[in-house]
Amino acid sequence: MYKIDLNNFQVATSETARDINSRIILNLVRERQPISRADLMRDSGLQRSSVSVITKQLIKDRWLLEGTTGKLPRGRRPTFLHLNENRAGIFGINIQPCVTELALANLSGHFLVRETIPTPADATTFVGHAGRCIRDWMTKYPRMSYEDIGVSVPGRINLLSQKLIFAPNLGWHATDLKKQLENATGLTVNMENAANACALSEFWFGKHMENVRNLVVVTVSEGIGVGMILNNQLIRGSSGLAGEFGHVTINEKGPLCSCGNYGCWEMYASNTAAVRYYNDAKSGGGRKGSVKNFGDLLQLVDQGDKLALEALKHIAEYLGAGIAMLVTGFAPDVIAIVGDVTAQWNKVNPIMAEIIRNRVSTHAAVKIVPSVSQPPPRLKGSIALILQKYFTVPIGI
Ligand SMILES: [Zn+2]
Repeated sequence: MYKIDLNNFQVATSETARDINSRIILNLVRERQPISRADLMRDSGLQRSSVSVITKQLIKDRWLLEGTTGKLPRGRRPTFLHLNENRAGIFGINIQPCVTELALANLSGHFLVRETIPTPADATTFVGHAGRCIRDWMTKYPRMSYEDIGVSVPGRINLLSQKLIFAPNLGWHATDLKKQLENATGLTVNMENAANACALSEFWFGKHMENVRNLVVVTVSEGIGVGMILNNQLIRGSSGLAGEFGHVTINEKGPLCSCGNYGCWEMYASNTAAVRYYNDAKSGGGRKGSVKNFGDLLQLVDQGDKLALEALKHIAEYLGAGIAMLVTGFAPDVIAIVGDVTAQWNKVNPIMAEIIRNRVSTHAAVKIVPSVSQPPPRLKGSIALILQKYFTVPIGI
């Protein structure tokens, strides 16, 4: 149930119900294919005639394909329906401070082509490259229809202007990336911050139960981001900046963060924090040798380095403390952790789990899992950002 927004609503026409039922059928096929019309009737509760009309139209519009004939002990043999996964192509771009990925995926989220490039120093060079790439791929796959590009960015987006407003690690000057990319490709560009993209990736492509409605993703990298899907909806807040738990102060006397606050959660629980713990311990103990990044630290953990393991355990404790807050606050069905830290899940998870157990007084039953999406969820999320346009129903009707 949704309260009607009196400043932004659409009245229902006779077509509205049919559109919604059509989306329900499309989603049932996507999730349960191959599926017969009889099973669609049973699963949707719609009349035989409605299922017949809707599937006929979806086949005509190339959303569905008729496939193999099923085998039953007696009676008519049903024809199974499949999603026409190559009906539309979705371009996904994952911009990160060092490398940028570009890809073309079909409606099942399978990648047809994928390219990784060093992130250019400025947006104009990037747009030039991306434009050429996308035009080439459209020529290579001429039978697909193309409308949109999804872009995951390491920063925050202004909800109204869709401009990138906060991307401290990227180093690009304030730029209207959306407009530039649209001019270069003739397609519509949708941008989303990386944590939200990861949440969408988990929600649409993660191997979770169909009934998961509340899902939180915690991205652990140089900083910490949180993406929230509550009641099946991505939460952006009034400013588009919802989810910045990484910049909640947990210790006012803590170290200065890039956001200007002191002692933010990400100063204690991120990859950067682990590297700092390790290097401080090294110099504190009067020993030579420091690590440059989290990847080096994880290698040392693999080699049995005690200080590296201590640093990893330290961030696991703080991750547990922050996640306990998310569990208490949102009581989601699932929390998925994204980041290189999941490579050491068997070391990190027991520490986090114990802290969460001790701190969550509501005893909320939450599954905490590492994200297993391949390729990395940021790129998959840029695809999900567009995919949801085809498979969701508009709310506020
Ligand atoms: Zn901060």
